[in-house]
Amino acid sequence: MGATDSHPTIEKTRAGAPIVLRGGTVLTMDAERTVLENADVLIIGDRIEAVGPNLDLPEGTAVIDASGGIITPGFVDTHRHMWQTAMRGYGADWTLTQYFVWNYLEHGKKFRPEDIYAGNLLSAVEAIDAGVTTSVDWSHGLSTVEHADAAVDALDQVAGRFVFAYGNIHAGPWEWATTPEFRDFVDRRIPRSGGQLGDDRLGFQLAFDVTGDPEFPERKAFEAARDLGVGVTTHAGVWGATNDDGIRLMHEHGFMDEKTVYVHAATLSEDSYQRIAATGGSASVSSESESSCGQGYPSSWALRRHGIPVSLSVDTSVWWSADAFASMRATLSADRAREHFEHHSSGETCTNLGLRADEVVEWATRGGARALGMEETIGSVEAGKKADVVLIKNDASPAMFPILNPHGHVVFQAQRGDVHTVVIDGRIVKHEHQLVDVDLASVRRTVEHTVDYIRGQLGEQEWESGMCPEIPETKILDNPYTYTEYRTDRTRTAQGGGRG
Ligand SMILES: [Zn+2]
Repeated sequence: MGATDSHPTIEKTRAGAPIVLRGGTVLTMDAERTVLENADVLIIGDRIEAVGPNLDLPEGTAVIDASGGIITPGFVDTHRHMWQTAMRGYGADWTLTQYFVWNYLEHGKKFRPEDIYAGNLLSAVEAIDAGVTTSVDWSHGLSTVEHADAAVDALDQVAGRFVFAYGNIHAGPWEWATTPEFRDFVDRRIPRSGGQLGDDRLGFQLAFDVTGDPEFPERKAFEAARDLGVGVTTHAGVWGATNDDGIRLMHEHGFMDEKTVYVHAATLSEDSYQRIAATGGSASVSSESESSCGQGYPSSWALRRHGIPVSLSVDTSVWWSADAFASMRATLSADRAREHFEHHSSGETCTNLGLRADEVVEWATRGGARALGMEETIGSVEAGKKADVVLIKNDASPAMFPILNPHGHVVFQAQRGDVHTVVIDGRIVKHEHQLVDVDLASVRRTVEHTVDYIRGQLGEQEWESGMCPEIPETKILDNPYTYTEYRTDRTRTAQGGGRG
């Protein structure tokens, strides 16, 4: 069905006019994961007005032909170090230890506020291009408040939803989270809505890790988060960095709650998974990351056994792509690989897979919304929700037909180049595979300045060797955190997957 005079094409529409995505396969991701064939999604203002076949359209509704395409909720990414994106692909062959050496020990502090800005800007644009409508900016390169201002300046320029997760790997969280400058930043830059810190365009979290130091110095940072009424996101269950001691300390001190997001949650014992499940938090799984870095086996197979809610994330573009298709595909593959492996180890065949494609699509959409306390607002294509909608359609692609299993198609067949239209908060930010109102040449120049600067700071030799950095004789193998003398070799005995 084409546009008519009373229903103009999107190019001729007036700003703020109703929009319909017409005649697509809609993965609603409602509670039943309903799939609607040949259905319309009508958007009025910033909301989804109606979803269903042959909707009546208000006069002047702009029509986007969704036939042959799949409509999904906007994807939600719960852990993305956006500041590192100017270094895209540089560390493709790093291990986690090499990443720690390069960023934590040697060069992370060289990033100026404008470099944080450059990375964030590129990452934010890249996110909306790929249909990731909400991203948690796990921003742990904030060595000063000026860096934080620069990070938020970039997020403010891009029409996505973001949760700014404030962090600083160069100082103890008990130090930076308690300064007047930090509180002043929060007052200046983070909006309030209904008495709560953050709104649905810019939320707020505290981002820091818990080393397992029995003194539990992180207490003050948890208290700051509680005081602000925001959640904590923490790299937990990372082999060689954070372990069961951190989870136990958080639990014993009463700081595990439903707002807590446990990133990776890979190398943890049965006891830790039970504490997470019992206190209502969720895990952010970055399967591409865990597979390359060595935090532990991608944890969805263990999290499922414990009923822990899952969301997905891409971690950092220093190694990997930053789109939900890659994270869904990697997660489903890793989960199934593990399931086969476990069966084979006891001489059995896995005849029915425990994780299906529709569940992984839910993790990438509604699961992320739930983890961020935004499930009432976003995460599904249902009337009344904010209009964050993605149309996956590519008439030029032989991989986009036939569409027989729509959830499976999204996970295993589609890719970011197939993202045809992205709507965020009722606004079209991408249409016919082109970003709308984004000056990509300007973004490119901004990023080039940062690359030139970092490269100049390192020198050519260091720049080359940094792609495979030597591991210095330091404590980093037991503790990558430069702000504490605490070290333990207890993570070395950790096996993960709920064992031990
Ligand atoms: Zn991370």
